[in-house]
Order: sequence, then C-alpha cells, then structure tokens
Amino acid sequence: MIVVMKRGATPQEIEHMIQRVRDLGLKPHPIYGTERTVIAAIGEKRDEHRHSLESGPGVAEVVPILAPYKVASREVKPESTVVRAGSLTVGNSYIGMIAGPCSVESEEQMLSTARAVKRAGATALRGGAFKPRTSPYSFQGLKEDGLKILAAARDETGLAVVTEVISASDVDLVAGYADVLQIGARNMQNYHLLETAGASGKPVLLKRGPSATMDELLLAAEYILNAGNPNVMLCERGIRTFEAHTRFTLPLASVPYLHERTHLPVVVDPSHGTGHASLVTPMACAAIAAGADGVIIEVHPDPETALSDGYQSLTFEQFGKAMALCRKMADAMGRQIVVREPGRG
Ligand code: PEP
Ligand code: MN
Repeated sequence: MIVVMKRGATPQEIEHMIQRVRDLGLKPHPIYGTERTVIAAIGEKRDEHRHSLESGPGVAEVVPILAPYKVASREVKPESTVVRAGSLTVGNSYIGMIAGPCSVESEEQMLSTARAVKRAGATALRGGAFKPRTSPYSFQGLKEDGLKILAAARDETGLAVVTEVISASDVDLVAGYADVLQIGARNMQNYHLLETAGASGKPVLLKRGPSATMDELLLAAEYILNAGNPNVMLCERGIRTFEAHTRFTLPLASVPYLHERTHLPVVVDPSHGTGHASLVTPMACAAIAAGADGVIIEVHPDPETALSDGYQSLTFEQFGKAMALCRKMADAMGRQIVVREPGRG
C-alpha cells in the first residue's frame, strides 16, 4: 500500500503519517521525490488500514501496490533513481561505464588496466578480489591483498571501485575498500548476503542469476532496499538457455522491461552475457540503444594469460574502440557518459 502525500505536504504531516503507518504495525518506507513524497507501507494485512490512513493530514490518496516487489516498483517511485558512487553516476540521463579485469591478479596488472580504462573514458573500475568459481581448483582471487590493490588503483586514477563480495561475513571487509559492492549471479538469492550488503550502506550492483526471473531479480533487490539502502543497480548478465553459441544468452529486452517496472538503474554485462571478446562491443552498443544505464566490461592487459575469463576480455585497444562507439550510442540516445567529481551532487 502506498500513502501518496499531497504536493506541498509539510514535513510534520509526512512525519505524522510515517508514525501512523508504524503504529498500525506496518513498516514505513518513505520516498522523498522531487514532485511529492510517498510512504510505502509494507507488511501483512496492510490493505485493512487503507481507509484509516486516507483521512490523515496531507494525504492525497492511498493505493495498493500491485507488483510483488514494493519499494523497487515504479508505482511507488515514478522518477528514475540515480546511483552515485565516487566517480560513477548511473541512471536517468547518465550512463556509467565500468571496466577492468575479471580478477585482480597483481598490482601491475590492475594499475595498468586502471590507467588504460581511465584514459579511454571509463567512469569506474571493476576487478574481483573474491572470486566465486565453478571449480574449487580455479583461481579464487587475491582476497584482501586484491582489495588493497584496487584501493591503490582508485587513489591513482580517481576511479570508483566496483568489486564482488561473496559472503555476508566479508561485507565489512570489502565495504572498507569498495565504492560499490557487486553481488554476483550465483549469489543473487543469498538473502542473508543481500540484507548484510544492504545494511552496509554502500551502493550495490546486483547481478541477475542465470536462471532467475525478472520478478525474482526485483524481489532480491527488495531485500537490499528494505535494509534501508536505496542505491541498488540491477545488472543483466545473461541467462542459461539451450543455446550454446554464446556462454550465456543476453536478453536485452530486460532493459526496457525493467525500466517499465522499476525506478532502479539497469546495467548490462556484455562480457559474461556473451563469453566472446568479439561480441562484447556490439552488445555494449546494443545495451545502450536499449536504454541501459550502465555497461560493465572485462578488460585485461593480456587476455591470453588472464587467470579468469580471458576469452571474453577486451584488450586496452579494443576497449578504447568500444568506448568510442558507446559514446556515439549514448549521444544518439540523448544520454551522457561522465566521470563524476566525488563530493559534487
Ligand atoms: C564477474 O563479474 O566476474 C562475475 C563473476 O560475474 P557473474 O556473477 O555475473 O557470473
Ligand atoms: Mn568474470
């Protein structure tokens, strides 16, 4: 149920209604929009209280939320959410370009990549220090040493760091270094991790599980939002289908579909989505054409020797070309790729 406040409702009226919702045993989730404030009232038996809330001061109307996800829904917040984290801005008119290796392998590898992607115009840096690998015998990441390398790369280039956290017990550690916590496809339904990442207060990049539906993705986002963290970016990274010509199947219709359903920004990962370096740039452009708010691309100084996902990683030169094309696509779509100066709104 959403309590829609009138335009110009006073802070006292809003506070009063938040308290009313709480008194009815429901969880209030106020969203302060530019136009008006709405208070989502979450909990069981919420519809029983509709009429009593309707008569509150400053209330325009009380309407049921039809979607199974509530706080993530566009019904609750019609205007698009913009997520800002250090140099990164994602959402509405801004497109974030997140680039870097699959895994942090060494200081030299990470710093050279950070410099190259910055030069090409990336707006944030990616790199996994904790790697969820299909095989326990594969490289598992440098862990805290990798986080320190990422922080050094941020210090030098100013690029915000996006890095994965794979366990709730590592959230504090990773949040101590990262600007954005990435929750990977394998962990999309690890609800304890979602809640813990939500409570950390750091922006979260939530990747779609390879067999998760759109509703499941949005309900996973809801766990993070309900922990009081509004800064969630959804990421379409491809799903498992019968098709074997690509590593996963990248359904770009997810982007406009999600934009209809949710105010949260949508990032596309054409690297995991295709699994082939040669397909990454065309699909990055296609993602922007479909309205993506960000693209996350794997880049490596020498893809052939990468410890993970080399076959889908771009060289520095290829990434430079990808950026040039993505910029043209962004222009065509009336969107901007900008490196934000942290501290500015
Ligand atoms: C990654 O970004 O390197 C990664 C492991 O992605 P996903 O969780 O989408 O497989
Ligand atoms: Mn990878």
